[in-house]
Order: sequence, then structure tokens, then C-alpha cells
Amino acid sequence: MGSVLNAEKQREEQKNRFFQKDNTIATKDRIVAWPRMGNIDLSMVALVSSLGVKIVEAPPNSNEALEIGVKNSIEGICLPYKLNLANYIMALEKGANTLMMFQAPGSCRFGNYTKMAQKTLKKMGYKFDMVVFDMYQSKMKQTLQAFWHVTKCANPYRYYKGFSTGFNKAFAIDTAERLLFYTRPRELNKGEAERCYKKWYKIISETTSIWGCKQLKKKIIKDFKKIPIDKNKIVPKVYLLGEFFVLLDPYTNKDIEKTLGDLGVEVERQIFFSDWLEHVLQPSFLYKKESHRERCVRFAEKYMKRAIGGETIETVGDTVYAAQNGIDGVIHIMPFSCMPEIVSQNILTRVSREEDIPAMTLVLDEQTGKAGYQTRIEAFIDLVKRKKMKENLGSKNKREEVLS
Ligand code: SF4
Repeated sequence: MGSVLNAEKQREEQKNRFFQKDNTIATKDRIVAWPRMGNIDLSMVALVSSLGVKIVEAPPNSNEALEIGVKNSIEGICLPYKLNLANYIMALEKGANTLMMFQAPGSCRFGNYTKMAQKTLKKMGYKFDMVVFDMYQSKMKQTLQAFWHVTKCANPYRYYKGFSTGFNKAFAIDTAERLLFYTRPRELNKGEAERCYKKWYKIISETTSIWGCKQLKKKIIKDFKKIPIDKNKIVPKVYLLGEFFVLLDPYTNKDIEKTLGDLGVEVERQIFFSDWLEHVLQPSFLYKKESHRERCVRFAEKYMKRAIGGETIETVGDTVYAAQNGIDGVIHIMPFSCMPEIVSQNILTRVSREEDIPAMTLVLDEQTGKAGYQTRIEAFIDLVKRKKMKENLGSKNKREEVLS
């Protein structure tokens, strides 16, 4: 009898682990909000509004948001939490009453984010429901269940429209970002790539039809191709790695991709929202090729045997991959006191030495000043450029030796 009850309890715990679902607000009265992170809003707005509930978007991350987050958080907690909390407070002030949140249990403080935020917000006197998705369990079926819980929408067409437009918007904006990273250091007319990106950001956010969203990616590629570039320019390529939130949030990383592009460097960010979306929602048997994570695990093997949470294995694996594939350097960004990335930072010193690739870690918190940050980036890029020039010279000399 005892074991039957235990099994029952375990099943119940397993079920509840996927999403915590407060249910004090009637669906018709729900006003939904979620934390800001990069371009995630484009997809979330498309999806949630298609399911027929009202939305409040928290204002983009800013000094004001950071101040609110810092004021209401414990000092040692990581930067993403402080901004997430500020997003919630600002959204609740604008009328939100249902907060959605992703979480991953176990590996680091991320597993406690929602509980902490919930406790703090209740203490501050806010009344709301919280719906939490467990990212490591959230395949398509559970995700649909969670959205059903929030919206009670039973119309399959609305789900199809929401997911289709949301996915296509994510792919479109990520394509625009990748093209921006390639074009910016090579463009002949300064600022043209940036203008093209901003134009498409606006178009993507305003497009609502399924067909229109499906066409976006193709149109963006065509438009970027029209920008005149210097194809012969020697442009160093740098991988941008590190913690998920700081990589995707331009306020937090102080628009590092623009800084690097303006310094004549092509950035390849290793984490994109659409890749993650595909990985989390798509059943594994539908994967035709090795996923980014699988590749990272393979390349990181010499330095670490298993993932320890956060993006550690991605950071190490991507650096080894970069070194073996002609990438000129890696920049690793992380929030201050981020536990998994502190481990990466330590391993990276060895990886950089043994694999012969320049690597720099930038630690970000609310005290980080733009000037010091910029100077460190410029010094690192100087080193990367000199190494590239030396290698080019070396291979040119070797070629001349062979020909003579
Ligand atoms: S990965 Fe780092 S920054 Fe992100 S929640 Fe975990 S400890 Fe905090």
C-alpha cells in the first residue's frame, strides 16, 4: 500500500514539476506578462495574442529597470534575476496579473528564480498568478498544456497561427541578426546594415498573417544582399559565448555585437533564441543533424566529462570548436557571481593555452562601466588582429617559399 502511495506521490510531483500553475484569476480577466530578454517578445506577443488573452509588455531593460531590480533583490543574486524581477514589477504596475516564467530546476540559482520572485512580489503587495514552465521538460505537448492553462483557448487554428507566426518571427529576426553581424564590419556606407536591421525589426513586429511571416526570412536575405560591402576586406571572426541571458540581452551586454562590428570584427554569437526554441520544443527523433549542444559535448570532452548547468559545456565546447575551425578569438560574457560560468572561466584559461586561441572573459554586473568595458574589448581585438596579421604573413611567406 505504502509503495502504491509513494508511486502516486512521485507521479504527482513529476506532473507538478513541469509547470506550477496558480489559478486565482478568471481567464477573461487575465493580463499576461513575461520577462524581457533579447527579441523573445516578438514571438511571445504573436503567440499569446493569437490565443486571445490580453498582454502587457514590460518596458525594455534600462537603467531604470536595473535600479528597481537591485533595490528589491538580495545583493548576491545574479544580474538576470534582478532584471527579471524589475520586468515583473514594471508589468504589474502597468496592469498585468498573470506572470509567465521559464525555469530549469537544479543546476544553478535559475531553479529558484521564480519562487524568490513570487515571494518578493507577494511581500510587496502585488496580486497575481504565476505560471512556470520547466524548460527541460517542456516539449510541445506540455507547452500546449501550459498555454491552454493560461488562455483556455480550445481553437486549434489559433494555436497553429500563434506557433507558426511566433516561430517564423523568431527565425526571421535571428536571420536578420546573423546578416547584420556579417555585413556591419564589411559595409561601404557606415550604418546601412544597422538601418536595414531596424527596418526589418519593425516589419517583423507588425506582420501578423501566417503567409506574411513565412515570407519574412527570404525577403530579409534579399534585402541585406543589396547592401554594398568590401568582399576582400580581411575581417577577424570572433565567437561570442557565455551565459544565455547576457548573450541575448543587448542592454545587459552593452550592445557588444555593435561594438565589435564597429571595430571591424565579424561576430558569431553561439546562442540564438530560435535555435533554443527548436531544441526545446522539437521532439528529439525529428533532429536530422547534430544539435549545437551535442556538438559542444563532443568538443568539450577533453576538458569536462559532463554538463554542470548553465551554458558551461557550450562555452568550453564552442571554444575548442572555434580553435579547430579557424575562428580568430572568443569573448566569453557572464554575469558577476554566475556559478556555472565561473567554472567555464577557469577551464577557458587552459583551453585557450592548449588550443592556441585568444580568449577573454567579461564579467557584467550593475557596476560595470561602459568605458572600462570598451577599453578591454578594444585591447583584446587589437591582439586578435595582430595574431591574424602574423598568421596571414606566415602563410604568405610559406607560399612564396614553395613557389620560389
Ligand atoms: S546561469 Fe548564472 S546567471 Fe544564469 S541563473 Fe544560473 S547562476 Fe544565475
